[in-house]
Amino acid sequence: MPSSCEYCDSPVERHDPVYVREGEGRERAFCNYACLTSYVDEAGLTTGNCCEWSPT
Ligand SMILES: [Zn+2]
Repeated sequence: MPSSCEYCDSPVERHDPVYVREGEGRERAFCNYACLTSYVDEAGLTTGNCCEWSPT
């Protein structure tokens, strides 16, 4: 079980944890959506990497 936040390293059980699984890869744990979005922003995971979904 992942138990420390991927972003800030705090024990996620103390907060409102969010888990992200990457395909068949490992699961990342975050305290909450704030840590998740901060992690994504800092890692640049959304840069040039979105699917080509467009609203109709
Ligand atoms: Zn955190």
